[in-house]
Amino acid sequence: MEESTGFDDTAVLGGLDKFIEIWAEAMAAQARGPELLRQVAETPYAGMSPEERRRWAGRWGAALNAGLGQTAATRRPDPPPKRPGAAPPAPAPSRSSKPARAAKPGKGPPSLPESHSVDVPVDRLRGVDTKLSGRLERLDVRTVRDLIYLFPRRHLDYSKFARVSELSPGQEYTLMATIWDAREVIGGQQGQRKDTEAVLSDETGNIKVIWFGQRYLARTLKPNARIAVSGKVEAFRGQLVFVSPEYELLDAGQAPIHTGRLVPVYSLTGGLSGRSLRRLTWQVLGQWLNGVDELLPEDLLDRTGFMPLRDAIRQAHYPDNLGSWEAARRRLAFDELFALQLAVLRRRQHQQRDVQGIPVVAQKEVLDGFIESLPFRLTTAQQRSIDEIIADLERGTPPMNRLLQGEVGSGKTVVALAALLAVAATGYQGAVMVPTEVLAEQHFHTVSALLSSMGSPVQADDSLVSVFLESMGRVVSLGLLTGSTRTARKRELTKMAGDGSLDLVIGTHALIQSGVSLPKLALAVADEQHRFGVMQRSALRERGTGTPHTLIMSATPIPRTLTLTLYGDLDISTLDELPAGRQQVSTGTLTPDRRPAAFGFIRKQVEDGRQAFVICPLVEESEVIEAKAATEEYEMLSQEVFPDLKLGLLHGRMSSKDKDRVMRRFRDGELDILVSTAVVEVGIDVANATVMMIEGAERFGLSQLHQFRGRVGRGEHKSYCILVSERNSEVPNERLSAMVQIHDGFRLAEADLELRGPGDFFGTRQSGLPNLRMAHLSDRQLLESARDEASRLMKRDPELKSKKHAALAAQVARFLDTVSTEAS
Ligand code: ADP
Ligand code: MG
Repeated sequence: MEESTGFDDTAVLGGLDKFIEIWAEAMAAQARGPELLRQVAETPYAGMSPEERRRWAGRWGAALNAGLGQTAATRRPDPPPKRPGAAPPAPAPSRSSKPARAAKPGKGPPSLPESHSVDVPVDRLRGVDTKLSGRLERLDVRTVRDLIYLFPRRHLDYSKFARVSELSPGQEYTLMATIWDAREVIGGQQGQRKDTEAVLSDETGNIKVIWFGQRYLARTLKPNARIAVSGKVEAFRGQLVFVSPEYELLDAGQAPIHTGRLVPVYSLTGGLSGRSLRRLTWQVLGQWLNGVDELLPEDLLDRTGFMPLRDAIRQAHYPDNLGSWEAARRRLAFDELFALQLAVLRRRQHQQRDVQGIPVVAQKEVLDGFIESLPFRLTTAQQRSIDEIIADLERGTPPMNRLLQGEVGSGKTVVALAALLAVAATGYQGAVMVPTEVLAEQHFHTVSALLSSMGSPVQADDSLVSVFLESMGRVVSLGLLTGSTRTARKRELTKMAGDGSLDLVIGTHALIQSGVSLPKLALAVADEQHRFGVMQRSALRERGTGTPHTLIMSATPIPRTLTLTLYGDLDISTLDELPAGRQQVSTGTLTPDRRPAAFGFIRKQVEDGRQAFVICPLVEESEVIEAKAATEEYEMLSQEVFPDLKLGLLHGRMSSKDKDRVMRRFRDGELDILVSTAVVEVGIDVANATVMMIEGAERFGLSQLHQFRGRVGRGEHKSYCILVSERNSEVPNERLSAMVQIHDGFRLAEADLELRGPGDFFGTRQSGLPNLRMAHLSDRQLLESARDEASRLMKRDPELKSKKHAALAAQVARFLDTVSTEAS
């Protein structure tokens, strides 16, 4: 770098001597090159003429066994710009740096000093004492690597230079000028503040600068020194003034880091200023980046054209321009997603290794018989999903681990039932687990109706159905097991489950997971699994004596980016079409003052024999307050608005027994209106309900609103969703307008993700999302390419054992660390 700038000692902030000093320490620490060290100590670089420096550098090059000129040229194809805004000084070349990529073939890597490890505590850095390292720790920075990866939150664009005569008020500029005068002045209303006031000048004029409350600057800013200031210019009593700008004294040979460029803004913690953090990152990037090895295999870099890692890190902190920052961000985001995908794929591989699955060879007649007995034709998506599942079952090993996603009403139950029948037909058992009793009952009724239509019922009541199936030539039994199942029946079902005569069982998670033995369990289906978060998935899989196949059904349309991230270890079947003839739920928004109109509408619907939901606003702070608010709403509605109708109340503070009781009454038509908090969200099916009125609709996420809306429009009657906004505002809320316009759950989910971010999308604590610093979950293309590249690499080197992949393997391990600490 020095060579490329004519040996003017600008390559290193503060002069090359400082760098040499540090480097020498590092070399000494590794007991390397004592004879080189002696040469270094001879003369300060700063004191040499450019010509002397050139010769000195030549000697160094020779001593290092490589032509310095050649390495400098090959390392950086484009010499760094000399002006302010330059990238941080590139560290001296090392064996692990990238020149080998560009080096001419036949020339072995030059024997250069080994890079120093960046996995050392930050207090190894010059100027970092225990106090500072304590503060850095609050930013999760413990090692030099952490500091290198502490990317700025944003950048201030101080790259626009101007001369004094060109300044105008209200704009941000960088001015390079000479200090005319600087002194301490008394400021503030009562004169309690000490400010620094300065006058700067360039060839076009003078301008005043004021730094509020920073009296110490008066002593630092010496007349005639060169200074750069970046910040906003304001007009003050007819005079232009820079108000508390960032500043930087311009020493010869020092590139600015606080001014005159895109200036990084880091997250800060008490006692750590932006300036000191910048000084620190600049120092580290200049001197330690050697220790960061390229993670990505060369062929991948060639294929994708990503920026080399060290350049990307430099550009992420101190970008040359916005374009290079974005290129750097993409590269670093890719690294995160790539590590994530590798971690996920490896976890999956480990899970699958040595795990013996159960081959279930579906009998074609049974499946065909089932499909023919349906009162409707399967959608293409349903048929495809069934095929995918059956293929998994037949393969047997590794056990199926599949997510069936499809929005409300897309017909997931039929798909699951096909799989369950295939399992039962071969003499194995299948279980369906759901979060609530009402859902369990609902599934039981659906499945038993479908079963009955296939054959002749032998026995049928509300918790046990046995049907003789011609196609199987035997009786298939289906049981319902919940907290409300009568004791005698429970005993009977448990016994049948244990001796294998119960083929299929539907029940609540808690019940099936505790105590019921299913010795021939080959397929476990979990419905509405997203309610339980991500971590429970593995618990589900570990359940059962053998290793059953698992099918997880989710009605939350999860954007593909998220499924790849969260469910990367699952195969996915998607029901992306609704059965034909589904009606769209008319959706409208309403300001609170028009609420009476909505109530009038509900009353009319009830008079026509329909039912309605009223959802109370979400109260984030506490379920207790939420329950109280819902109770008040319920009382107000039943006493003042609908005294003649039958209303029910549902909230999260009620016992699950009480909740189930209310849900049942609503389902059975005993209630006209159900007033509820968000707990009603889970897949309940009441075909007669036609109005979904949501109070405080802005408080809910789009996906949740969509789930609510999915509770109506499930029968033959025209249905309506009324979104009541919080305020009488004229400005339409983005999310609510999206609801009115978009009826496709997947598109809504994508919109939701854009508007809210992944944490909120899943509920913050539930997400199990690793800490992605540079990647956005909307980086769909990056994510897919990370996924592709990860599977490609896993095929070649599944354990990342190759020496070439050592740095990558270490990165994946670090990544897994953060995931598991965040999940715990
Ligand atoms: P979800 O995916 O929300 O669980 P369900 O499986 O409960 O959906 O199906 C919703 C309704 O649609 C049920 O009444 C079901 O019988 C019906 N259904 C499922 N598949 C089809 C189809 N291909 N054509 C018409 N109706 C269907
Ligand atoms: Mg369902």
